[in-house]
Amino acid sequence: METVLLSDSSADITKAAELIKNGHIVGIPTETVYGLGADATDENAVRGIFAAKGRPADNPLIVHLADFSDAVNYTAEIPELAYRLAERFCPGPLTIVLPKNDRIPMVTSGGLDTVGIRVPSHPVMHRLIAESGKPIAAPSANISGYPSPTSAEHVMRDMNGRIAAVVDGGESKFGVESTVISIENEDTVRILRPGCVTDEMLSEICGSVIIDHAILNELEAGEKAASPGMKYKHYSPKANIIMVEGSADAFTKYVSEHDGESSYSLIFDGDEKNFPYRYMTYGKDSLQQAHMLFAKLRELDDIGAEKVYVRAPSKDGVGLAVYNRLIRAAGFEVIRV
Ligand code: AMP
Ligand code: MG
Repeated sequence: METVLLSDSSADITKAAELIKNGHIVGIPTETVYGLGADATDENAVRGIFAAKGRPADNPLIVHLADFSDAVNYTAEIPELAYRLAERFCPGPLTIVLPKNDRIPMVTSGGLDTVGIRVPSHPVMHRLIAESGKPIAAPSANISGYPSPTSAEHVMRDMNGRIAAVVDGGESKFGVESTVISIENEDTVRILRPGCVTDEMLSEICGSVIIDHAILNELEAGEKAASPGMKYKHYSPKANIIMVEGSADAFTKYVSEHDGESSYSLIFDGDEKNFPYRYMTYGKDSLQQAHMLFAKLRELDDIGAEKVYVRAPSKDGVGLAVYNRLIRAAGFEVIRV
């Protein structure tokens, strides 16, 4: 199959919407990362998404809608708290897990009786949903296990020949996937995956916000995952990622004592002044680090880095999302210095 690269012109968005309407898979820009989009109600199209990514069949897809008011068409029940959250955070990088109805096939929900609903803010994604008239199932557009794509070029690299088209809508604004939450009771949510809607932001709407244990910890053998995605290795470039947590000086000292010469490091902007080895930087604050992390991990693979020491980010605010991706890329090992 030839994968067509489309622009974000009106004519090209219409072409992409037609493809989705007709059961094809299209690489699509969102404000979080690029997605592999298809009609969420078309079982064959959804199977094609799983096949293109090599995604385990039990890892559910998020369903993207043009407006939260459409969620009534795909869910069995919407608690009042979900409406309050949607009012504050939709459109935006928040996915709310709700009981699904029969219009969402089991293949889409990975066999669960719930579905993650998101209303994206990216104007191209919004138009694709509106023009296709379909709810769009879209996981991140990477080969399963590899870092998520934040540009059309990344998607082309992973998916060329596997999908019908990719729409180039520019670099993803946030750079990490949406915050995924479930609703625990009338005033409590549980964060299943951290993103750019932070626990502090959710606390403005909910009485209580639980951060699931599996966000920072490997599941024990036999422990049930609150979200299937927690079970799988994720975000891993080919390079061996070693996470080192500590001050810039302590990080430099550690690297100098452990094959500094033969490795690369991924450090904060500003750390490079006294850093004598090969490095890349990934921003100076959590928002910048979220924006750049996946692109830098891919770049490190492109230059053939085999071993990469990463200076661990803050765990506060959006930092938790960056830390969560890195700790998975590092196989849950963190060296504290
Ligand atoms: P991705 O599609 O690559 O952005 O990953 C979606 C993430 O959301 C995965 O970690 C899924 O396990 C999680 N997810 C999606 N739908 C649900 C659901 N119904 N219940 C729990 N987690 C979900
Ligand atoms: Mg993903």
